[in-house]
Formats: sequence, structure tokens, C-alpha cells
Amino acid sequence: MAKKQFKSESKRLLNLMINSIYTHKEIFLRELISNASDAIDKSYYKSLTDSNIVFNKDDFYIRISVNEEARTLTVSDTGIGMTKEELDSNLGTIAKSGSFDFKENIENKDAVDIIGQFGVGFYSAFMVAEKVTVISKAFGSDEANKWESTGVDGYTITPCEKNSAGTDVIMKIKPSTEDEDYDEFLDIYNIKHLVKKYSDFIKYPIKMMVKKRRLKEGSENEYEDYYEDEILNSIVPIWRKNKKELKDEDYENFYREKHFGFEKPLKYIHVSVEGITSYNAILYIPGRAPFDFYTKEFEKGLELYSNGVLIMKKCGDLLPDYFGFVQGLVDSADLSLNISRETLQHDRQLQFIAKKIKERIRNELLSMLKDERDNYEKFFMNFGKTLKFGIYSEWGANKEELQDLIMFYSSHENKLITLDEYVSRMKDDQKYIYYAAGENIDKVEKLPQTELLRDKGYEILYFTDEIDEFAIKVLTKYKDKEFKNVSSADLDIKTDEDTEEKEENKDLFNFIKESLDGKVKEVRASKRLKSHPVCLSTEGELSIEMEKVLKSMPDNLGNISAEKILEINTHHAIFNKLQDAYSNDKEKLKKLSKVLFNQALLIEGLSIEDPVQYANDVYDLIQ
Ligand code: ADP
Repeated sequence: MAKKQFKSESKRLLNLMINSIYTHKEIFLRELISNASDAIDKSYYKSLTDSNIVFNKDDFYIRISVNEEARTLTVSDTGIGMTKEELDSNLGTIAKSGSFDFKENIENKDAVDIIGQFGVGFYSAFMVAEKVTVISKAFGSDEANKWESTGVDGYTITPCEKNSAGTDVIMKIKPSTEDEDYDEFLDIYNIKHLVKKYSDFIKYPIKMMVKKRRLKEGSENEYEDYYEDEILNSIVPIWRKNKKELKDEDYENFYREKHFGFEKPLKYIHVSVEGITSYNAILYIPGRAPFDFYTKEFEKGLELYSNGVLIMKKCGDLLPDYFGFVQGLVDSADLSLNISRETLQHDRQLQFIAKKIKERIRNELLSMLKDERDNYEKFFMNFGKTLKFGIYSEWGANKEELQDLIMFYSSHENKLITLDEYVSRMKDDQKYIYYAAGENIDKVEKLPQTELLRDKGYEILYFTDEIDEFAIKVLTKYKDKEFKNVSSADLDIKTDEDTEEKEENKDLFNFIKESLDGKVKEVRASKRLKSHPVCLSTEGELSIEMEKVLKSMPDNLGNISAEKILEINTHHAIFNKLQDAYSNDKEKLKKLSKVLFNQALLIEGLSIEDPVQYANDVYDLIQ
């Protein structure tokens, strides 16, 4: 029988598993139990929604069995099972939606990272087994098949016998070595301990036949062995438990079992509501953004249960986009089992729950901001962008709800602050909330445009995300204070120079403007520059940073550009040179104008139209 080959990325993952030095190999059991539970969810759901199927609740369970002599550990379930094709496609390839990224990243990551980011599922069995056999019979089929593999060199699928629908995963446990003890995975007490530790809240009973001793009947000192089924888990799902009975650890383990994330979640929220619509929910704020969070592939949503039965793995309607990072589940007895994606959106109960959940998340974030600042900042570093997108999108419909949750880096504090913090300490004579935009904090800090404001002692917010300025344009004001870009032409700040007459250098400035061929709207004396000779400012709604963002969009908004003004520091030595050239050498002034303008572009992080010409101009001037 011909061996089939694993898909190449699966092969690499498998290799990683087989040679893993990962210290928590024991998690393979959690992974297999979790797969078994998912499979039972599917058949349980089928039996509930199809009146032709007669079933007994006791039919749904997971069984673990150990055979010490044969060195096998088996996890069986009475779930939906797999057909031959499904065995081939599900176990021959990585099912993860993120596999695209996986291909590129796998080389550079160690097992801990992989397990962390992806939750490796079935393949983790290869961390402890030298051979894995999967016997499966799909629900409603009368054929069973056996999938078998000893690792990277491929797998086989052959027909076999199996009484009822479901799946057995049989692991031939590796021999122990000097460094690694695998025998513990054949030890019943250890297995019991692992089930309690990782899978206690699985909804279906996890059974194991356990050897026990008892007095022989009629005897007073003779014992006999007998076997009895034991249920190893507490079965009641965690969200139905009383909060008081649960420890942080329980929530954290559940989080991992569900593959919501691998790192410790930043926060968990357990909600139990009794009322016209009753529901339980467990919500998590992850400690780190998933690798695909800011891509189109990311799908937000919570698991949705109707009275303990999973009806949807990712219900997006339960979360607004701007809280799309939240993981978790909702269970309500008031939802119909037969709800579909189409009817969901119009379901009043579901809308009600979604609204409550949204409010709860917001309040939880606000109190985190108030009482656990470090945690909140960590959260914001990961997910802040989504909140700012939330302000920007839907024409600002959600801006009121989100404005107190966003933060920006402050020139005064050198850390993230809220808008409320900014406004509460604005100077008496300060009209606006000032911000400077650029690629990163380092670059923004050095922008010449900030000189006057620094001189005045005004705090400046640094905008380094592309979305920032767009979000703020939608917000327009915070607590009646408008926002102002430090690069806007009209800073509306009184300076000592206001009285100086403007006519003085008019001809010179006009000449410079002419030399720049319409690239700037105006050339004027700067009120804000202190040590730099030139800078750009803008007039109108569009700033230079916004121009950059718009130009980088796939459907490039063409020739959109900010209205630029070239500001010249008339107290700078360079200015004397300009005046001098204006009187004595107009050709030189043209060159100087172009060079200075190009330098102002460079400072803004914009590219120069003709770099070769620029270089030649500089050489000429040096000579
Ligand atoms: P994941 O569970 O994250 O999708 P796995 O590698 O663990 O990834 O499993 C791949 C697929 O194989 C599952 O999505 C499921 O369709 C199928 N599968 C795994 N274990 C079982 C099982 N015990 N019963 C039925 N199907 C299973």
C-alpha cells in the first residue's frame, strides 16, 4: 500500500513536534481531548436538530485507555468521525487558517512559539508517540478507515472495522530515554492528573477504566482486582460554574484549551445574567495580538452556545469590529438551536446580548485604565489601533464611546497618556490640543515644526500610527478643545513677531516660490522655527502625514496632496545667504531655494522628485 506524503508545511510542523524539546509535552492530551469534544459537539448538535435521530445523552463521551504492555494510550470519542477523504485532508494538512504565514515563519520559530501562536492540535501527539493510529467512522456511514503514521515519511489509510461512529486516536508511546520520561504518559494517575489540570470543564464525561481492589466476597483477608469506569472531569462547563468556585488558573487553562491564545490573557470577564434574556459569557482580552490580527484573514467572533450546545464557532455579530480582539463565548438558553448566520442578525435576543457585552467590555477597559495602568498600556500597544479605527469608521458613530479609551505618546511624559489627561493640564493660554505626526517617536521628536510649542511649554501628542490623524479628524474635538497639527500653517499662537511688518521680504519670498514651480502654495517667514532654517507647514484639512497615507493606498487617490507652505527662519544665518543671493546672484538663489525645499521634504520623510538634480545642486553650491 502506497504511502501518502504530508503537505510540505505539515511536514515541517511534524518534524518540529517529533524533535521537540518543548517542556510541556503533556499538552498533547488536552489537544486530543479538545478535538474529541469538538467532534462530539458536532454529532450532538446533529442529533438535537434532526428529529429522525434517536439518541441518548449517555451516548456522548470520551474514553481514555492505557495498555502498559503494548505501550499505547488511546483517546476515543463518540463524535462525528471522519470519512476516508476527511482523514486524508484533515490529518494530512495543517487545517489552520494561518498556514500561509506559517510557511514563512516556521523556519525562524521554535516549538514554543509555534505551539503558542497556532495551537498545533492533532500533530502534538507526535511529541510523545512514535506511531499514531487513527481509526474513524463518520456519522451516518458504514465504512471505517485507519490512518497510520510514524512521522514525516508519510501516512497510510486503509479500510478497517469499527462498530459505531466516532474516532480512536491510538498513540504508541516513545520509549523513555535518559533525558526524557515518556512512561508517565502510560501512568493512570498521571493521566488523571492531566485531565483534571487541562480538561476539567470539558462538557462530556471523560471516562477511564480504572483497576481497583476489593475484599473477595466471603473472605476477610483475600483481595481481588476489578475494573470500574471512572469519570475524570467535572463536566459542568466553566461558564456555568459559580465564579466563587473558580480560580484565575481555571480561566487561564480554559483559555489555552480553547486556543484563544497561548500567553496568559490580560483580563478575563465572567458574566452571568438572569433576566428577560439570560446568558452566561466568558470574555478574554488577550495578552498579545494574534499574528494575523491586522490582516484581512482575521475573523472576529465569540463561540455561541444555545443551552450548552455549540451552535457557532465564531459569531461575529456578538462583537463590534473595534472590540474584535475579544475572545470567549456566550451561552444562552433563550437562543434557538436552529439559528443560522442569516437569521442571526435579526435575532432580538442576540442583539440584546451583543449590546450588553459591548458595554461590559467598555466598562472593563475603563476600569483597567483607571486601576491597572500598566496592563492597560500593554493592552493598548497591542490593540489600540483597532480602537482608533473604531473612532474613524462608520462616520464617527462610535466616537463618544471610544474617545476615553485611546492614548497617545506625550512629549511631556514620554509615555502614553489619555486625551483627558492632556486636556486637564493644558496651559491657561492654550487653545488647542497639539499633535505632531510622523513615522515614529524619534522622528516626530525632531520635527522642526515643534520648536515654538516646546518653547511655550505646550505638551504635544505624537501620532505615529497611520490611522491617528484620520481618527482625530473625525473626532474633531475633545471636551470642546480642537486638535491642531503642529505643522499647520496657522498655529494661532501669539508671538513677539506678530507686529513685524510682512512686506519686508515679500519680493524675495515670491522669487523663491517661483523657483519652486508651483510645488508650494506660499513662502513665508516662520514664527515657529528657532534653530532650523526651513520647514514645511500645510493649510487646509490635509496634512503631509495624511498625504503619505493616502498615496500609499492600493487604490491610490492619485494626485491628492497637501497644500504646502515653505517656512523660512529669518533669524537664521542661511537667511542672510538668501538675501545676499537675491541681490547678487539670482541663479544661485534658484538653486538654494530648490535645495532648501528638498531638505524640508526629507525632514518630513517625503521623497525628492529628482534626487540626481538635488545632488548636483548641492555639489554646485559647495563648489
Ligand atoms: P484543529 O482542531 O485546530 O482544526 P487539528 O490538527 O487538531 O486542528 O485537527 C484537524 C482537523 O481534524 C479538525 O479540524 C477536525 O476536522 C479533524 N479532527 C481531529 N480530531 C478529530 C476527532 N477526534 N474527530 C473528528 N474529527 C477530528
